[in-house]
Amino acid sequence: MSAIGVAIFGVVAASCSSDETTASTSSSTTTGAGPATTAAAIATTTTTATVVTTTTSPVTELVSSKRVNLDFVSAYVIDRGDGLVVIDTGVGGSAPAIHAAIEEYGKSWADVGYVVATHKHGDHVGSLGAVLALATDADVFAGVSDIPDISSRRSITPLAEGDLVNGIQTIATPGHTPGHISLLDPDIGLFTGDALNGASGGVTGPNPGFTPDLDTAHLSVKKLATFTYEQAFFGHGEPVLVGASDAVSVLAGSL
Ligand SMILES: [Zn+2]
Repeated sequence: MSAIGVAIFGVVAASCSSDETTASTSSSTTTGAGPATTAAAIATTTTTATVVTTTTSPVTELVSSKRVNLDFVSAYVIDRGDGLVVIDTGVGGSAPAIHAAIEEYGKSWADVGYVVATHKHGDHVGSLGAVLALATDADVFAGVSDIPDISSRRSITPLAEGDLVNGIQTIATPGHTPGHISLLDPDIGLFTGDALNGASGGVTGPNPGFTPDLDTAHLSVKKLATFTYEQAFFGHGEPVLVGASDAVSVLAGSL
């Protein structure tokens, strides 16, 4: 029923830093995501990974999301019908879990057209090398200021404000890292990386402990509040599936 969708590789945990790639909390909760949700748990070769599929657009019936919970961080795969888009790659060793979600689409690594890093931290690009080795046709993208610190087997194309990756809009959200980007899928919602975090069903700001330029990061939160999206998906924490931009606006107003 879905040709456009998103697979979410989630790990619920606290914070983000290249120094914390070994941190582990075993959360494999598969939360319901609304009336149009189906959930399926998939055992993978890594720890407690699971995949949750969520139909997100009753209008197009082509949009769905999947979530794979690993141990620590979240990555995503979006299917917009013309090459899968992988957003972030998790810590090292996450490629099998990403592959599990790709298979749920009935597709393979050869169908991955785009790999986008929201930022340079190791828990978001830890499996970039493995993913690119498998997704041999994929182009790789990141915010320009983070690119020098990302190890990649292929050259990384810089993304700037407004750039589109297979129809997904780039929003520059510096602060957590200088080149941090968020991605707005017009059908699915906002992918925040670590510009925002999920928290107890809601949304909270970037983690001060791992955000060297907090003032700029807070300006990025205010920027994200100017867009409209029903759902938001984070690097860390559970997604917000209803009223996400309203929640971000409330947060932005408190900063
Ligand atoms: Zn981070």
